[in-house]
Amino acid sequence: MIMEKAQHILEEYFGFPSFRPGQQAVIEYVTSQKNALAIMPTGGGKSLCYQIPGLALEGTAIVVSPLISLMKDQVDALSSLGIPATYINSTLSSEEFQDRMQQLRAGRYKFVYAAPERFESPTFIESIKSINLSLVAFDEAHCISQWGHDFRPSYRSIVPTLAKLPNLPVIVALTATATDEVNYDIRRLLNIEDDHVINTGFARDNLSFHIVKGSSKRDFVLDYLKERPAESGIIYTSTRKQTDTVHQLLVSKGYAAAKYHAGLSEQDRKQAQNAFIQDEKTIIVATNAFGMGIDKSNVRYVIHYALPMNIESYYQEAGRAGRDGEPSDCILLFSGQDIQLQKFLIEQSLMDEEKKTKEYKKLQAMINYCHTHSCLQTYILHYFNDYSAVEDCGKCSNCLNSDNREDMTREAQMVLSCIKRMDERFGAGLTAKVLKGSRDKKVKDFQFDQLSTYGLMSQYTEKELTNFIHFLVAENILSTGDDRYPILKLTKHAKEVLQGRKQVWVQTGFARSTAAADYHE
Ligand code: ADP
Repeated sequence: MIMEKAQHILEEYFGFPSFRPGQQAVIEYVTSQKNALAIMPTGGGKSLCYQIPGLALEGTAIVVSPLISLMKDQVDALSSLGIPATYINSTLSSEEFQDRMQQLRAGRYKFVYAAPERFESPTFIESIKSINLSLVAFDEAHCISQWGHDFRPSYRSIVPTLAKLPNLPVIVALTATATDEVNYDIRRLLNIEDDHVINTGFARDNLSFHIVKGSSKRDFVLDYLKERPAESGIIYTSTRKQTDTVHQLLVSKGYAAAKYHAGLSEQDRKQAQNAFIQDEKTIIVATNAFGMGIDKSNVRYVIHYALPMNIESYYQEAGRAGRDGEPSDCILLFSGQDIQLQKFLIEQSLMDEEKKTKEYKKLQAMINYCHTHSCLQTYILHYFNDYSAVEDCGKCSNCLNSDNREDMTREAQMVLSCIKRMDERFGAGLTAKVLKGSRDKKVKDFQFDQLSTYGLMSQYTEKELTNFIHFLVAENILSTGDDRYPILKLTKHAKEVLQGRKQVWVQTGFARSTAAADYHE
């Protein structure tokens, strides 16, 4: 009965004929008063998972949302469908706040979007206590967990306040990024049973992932844009300065490009965002300050000009491409030097040591993504513990290159036995020196020039050898732990390689291309 109503709402209000994967299950739990967690990719359709139950149930839905811009867009969208909705946050004047509180108490709204800080306001709490609530939705629920990549303490502090509500309704949490730890935290804090987690998997079939190494980033971007001058795209940079430089470059070449970073005034940011959303500007060059909650469906590509800090942020940012389901590109321009910036950012942050160690580990997974020769989509899905896909994507830069592979098992065995002989106590740099047969002082001091593997791979450059080692780390044949000065250890796969039970295939020309994969601005 209630699902019939849900289907009706889907068609009548939103104009969609059918549910997307997972939506129906979430709606069923929520409308039958079971707290639920929905994990769906960006663009997967999370909003309907609380909007439809909010409409199907009696009372007012409270939607906790971390971003002010996001609230306004959502409220505008609902209002345009004739659904009474509002938002309450720090941008309101005190008259506006009072007015909305009054309407809220009168039960006039079906949806009230609130920033987490609102739950510290006694007026707000008293008001929501006094009305009939249909549900509480936690949008971007990963912000509640300190293991999430965007932890907000104010989000977490809502939990005890909510628990005290005499009229606490059903809760639904939504996120696109939930590793096991985050997922566990959300369930524990919001009282969600294991069985009520809907995880649709993370695959975005219309996205093609590409890693570009060894060419000038600037030239790559200009060549790429030349092919598609009218298409909409986002270029993410790692610093404000880089945003300015890339933006200037594009403007000087005649592209309609906007820029966005936290150093700009709010008005400039808003203007840039609107120009991009309304297709007045085809390209936006931005730091990661841009994008959360942006629902622009026709973004055809997302280029990362520099290495992001972890796979969670990368997938979220890259996932802003192709929300309409049309084929779109996600391109990461990799250069080894970008790693230093990310390490620096972790090092100088205010995180405690334990958290820093975790961040290093996540950064390492991001670096491994750039070095792997396996399917990039599969790599990301496995990172999120999604093993549902049985086949490789067939269209990422690694899949497209998979015909050109050569067997480097023998070379891998040489590297592995060298690391073993060095007692698994050193990093890639020194290992490469030993394999090269370098006369470096450290090599001599440790008497590594006495090892049988000393100079065993002298036909390669040290750079080629370090890159090959990074590749072995990416393939999980070697591990570096989460150390800041990564120490190479053999994994169980290394044993299989050494025993000849596992082969190591790499892309042809690998040594050449990775040697060039040094820094090019
Ligand atoms: P998310 O919050 O998961 O990133 P949204 O809720 O913003 O995604 O939805 C992304 C887009 O998909 C929106 O434009 C939305 O209107 C559309 N959408 C959601 N559900 C459906 C559906 N069942 N059928 C068609 N389009 C849908």
